[in-house]
Amino acid sequence: NADTALFRAKDAGKNNSQFFTYEMNRAVRRRVEIASQLRNAIRQGEFSVVYQPRMDLIRDQLVGVEALLRWNNAELGIVSPQEFIPVAEETGLIVPIGEWVLREACRQAVRLHQSSGCDVAVAVNISARQFRGTDIVKTVEDALAETGLASRLLELELTESVLMRDTARAAETLQRLVEVGVGVALDDFGTGYSSLGYLKRFPLDSLKVDRSFVADITRDPHDEAIVTTIVALAHGLGMRVVAEGVETREQLALLRRLQCDEVQGYLLGRPMSAEQLLALLLAAEPGEFRNSSYSWTLQ
Ligand code: C2E
Ligand code: MG
Ligand code: MG
Ligand code: MG
Repeated sequence: NADTALFRAKDAGKNNSQFFTYEMNRAVRRRVEIASQLRNAIRQGEFSVVYQPRMDLIRDQLVGVEALLRWNNAELGIVSPQEFIPVAEETGLIVPIGEWVLREACRQAVRLHQSSGCDVAVAVNISARQFRGTDIVKTVEDALAETGLASRLLELELTESVLMRDTARAAETLQRLVEVGVGVALDDFGTGYSSLGYLKRFPLDSLKVDRSFVADITRDPHDEAIVTTIVALAHGLGMRVVAEGVETREQLALLRRLQCDEVQGYLLGRPMSAEQLLALLLAAEPGEFRNSSYSWTLQ
């Protein structure tokens, strides 16, 4: 909170106050600049969507991809979503941007399906402001109708904080999305303020274990215990478990042993363009989406 920071900075004395004010000004100016550049980004064609593979551990197959937004601006260069998504949320620009991502991902998923014959589901991240402040069900229905994507091939990723506020309304919206036929995953699971009680009320298809629990899983028994518990919880409630941020074979082997259903991470594939993804699918066996170049990590 900027006011509190300023207050503390003044408290800390004149020199510190000048330092904090300078740093704060710089951060504020950067956000203002990002907000102003974001305003024209769709129109100027500065966004693209990349796709990161998600692998099923029982079938050893690519079953889906996560759509991740990329922004290349003439003034600012490449800006990370970690930096611009929060600005887009604050300014409300996430609404048109989020709709653009959804449509683009659906459109490319249809192309992918037509060119490869593979049923690859695409997961799209939905922010709090989109979920609560707009008619997300209508937006999803429109995107499916306009692109012709089968609803079973679309999944939405929501975070705990999105669902925790106004849980009754959130549950109702989720139920309507289930009726449309799209999947819903709870993203970054374990990092939000979740009450376990709400999990049984929400019709969720999967939990995505945050990568902070995966990073040290082979060295830290506490992380292993947390993932073991999430798997038991999810399976007990009829949900699948996806582990995020898998970077090593050792992590993969352990997650397999802990009965995770799916994995995603640099080991299996970095986020890639739709063209690269298509090439990868076409290199697979006919009629299958097994990716031969990945299978070595999965034996
Ligand atoms: P997320 O939804 O949890 O996405 C996973 C992030 O982890 C991605 O970062 C991905 O590139 C990164 N990642 C994947 N595998 C690995 C790995 O093995 N190691 C490490 N260190 N990182 C890995 P990215 O693309 O920078 O996106 C960051 C966040 O920005 C996303 O986190 C999501 O919350 C948000 N975001 C991205 N695209 C969109 C979008 O279209 N809409 C909304 N609302 N948010 C988005
Ligand atoms: Mg996500
Ligand atoms: Mg995630
Ligand atoms: Mg995450």
